[in-house]
Amino acid sequence: MNVSFIGVGDELLLGQVVDTNSVRAAEYLFSLGLSIRKKYCVQDRPEEIIKVLAQASLDSDVILISGGLGPTRDDITKEALATFLAVPLVYSNRCELHVKHYLEKRGITMNEIQKVQCYIPENAELLENPLGTALGIFIEHGGKVYCAMPGVPYEMDFILQNSLSERLGWLGRQGGLLHESILIGGMGETAIAEIIEPLLTDLPEAIKLAYLPSIGTVTLRLTGDEKSGVDLKESIKHYMGRIKTALDKNVLADRSLPLAQILGRRLKALGLTVSTAESCTGGLISHRISSHPGSSDYFLGGVVSYSNLMKEKVLSVPEQTIEEHGVVSEETVKMMLLGACSVSGSDIAIASTGIAGPSGGTEENPVGTIWIAVGNSKQMRVKKLQLKSDRTRNIEAATNQSFLLALEHLQYLQ
Ligand code: ATP
Ligand code: MG
Repeated sequence: MNVSFIGVGDELLLGQVVDTNSVRAAEYLFSLGLSIRKKYCVQDRPEEIIKVLAQASLDSDVILISGGLGPTRDDITKEALATFLAVPLVYSNRCELHVKHYLEKRGITMNEIQKVQCYIPENAELLENPLGTALGIFIEHGGKVYCAMPGVPYEMDFILQNSLSERLGWLGRQGGLLHESILIGGMGETAIAEIIEPLLTDLPEAIKLAYLPSIGTVTLRLTGDEKSGVDLKESIKHYMGRIKTALDKNVLADRSLPLAQILGRRLKALGLTVSTAESCTGGLISHRISSHPGSSDYFLGGVVSYSNLMKEKVLSVPEQTIEEHGVVSEETVKMMLLGACSVSGSDIAIASTGIAGPSGGTEENPVGTIWIAVGNSKQMRVKKLQLKSDRTRNIEAATNQSFLLALEHLQYLQ
């Protein structure tokens, strides 16, 4: 089953908008056991869209298109699709009703421009989109499936997950990909490879192992194509079991999940609360924790104490500690942590202080020196990081390392 994705829009080619839709579609299809074989990105020009449709339909069974379904003059996907398939555009009363209702709910009356949006290729099925005016278009033609969705990411996502899921899921079951992933923390890919490669010498050729490193974590994925004839499901389970046993406590989750979410689950299970005291991470640790629904169950709050004065006044870090040991020091990060625990009343806290760069480094504390701490007055874990990247990646790495240290503190990691 070959699937192609076509992203339509000048903005995607001018670097104004990042094509996240193809990534989201790929991620979603993969969860159904399907994969995108080719991605195209094309201008808002009918002749260009038609050329790409012709190219994609040469070797694809399913052609997904995003963008250009709206009412403005640059929205020409339906027109191009109809021309390519040699079918007329016909006025759809259902489309009109949908647009009317959508606009009426917002106190807007439908105008002539919006009526343009109601023309669809003949024999197209319409896919529900309660989040916008443009309905999705689904056409089976010449043994192939064409599906055009709005460019707005959350609208495309809705159509993928709701109206399309049944149809694509069925296609996926016709012979697709099987996969299992696990998330590893606290080990680099080489260290992981040294442990698991000797255990996988008899891995069937039909199963591929992928290492997907991220900052502080590595996702391991076993993938196989069901068409290979091997009993893949059992086989993937068997080899993933071997990997999990060997990596033991470093296995953080059964799939690639954000570290803050894993920490949140762990805190919730243990009935513990957390707060933060952040200097160089500037609130990113708090932001990551609070991005997850339900985080109010365990996250009490955080202090972004960038200046020494804030550290002293809000977190009660003694002036003397900073004077004697410096603001980037083990002693200061410990006092920040204790301050967060005491000001919030949380069971544990996470603290960070350091130099993210590009300037501010000294001989003693070069750029990338970041102290992180996790725990409370009874038990604390402190770590000095010596990071070597740019500001953004240093902050990201310190944040992820803080989560790993917190998981370690909660006896999650060894
Ligand atoms: P609308 O009814 O809003 O006009 P549409 O289907 O015509 O929807 P576009 O006009 O092509 O969609 O795009 C709408 C918005 O969606 C764009 O401003 C852009 O920000 C975003 N968008 C479009 N294509 C993509 C993409 N491939 N990835 C991420 N965002 C996209
Ligand atoms: Mg548009």
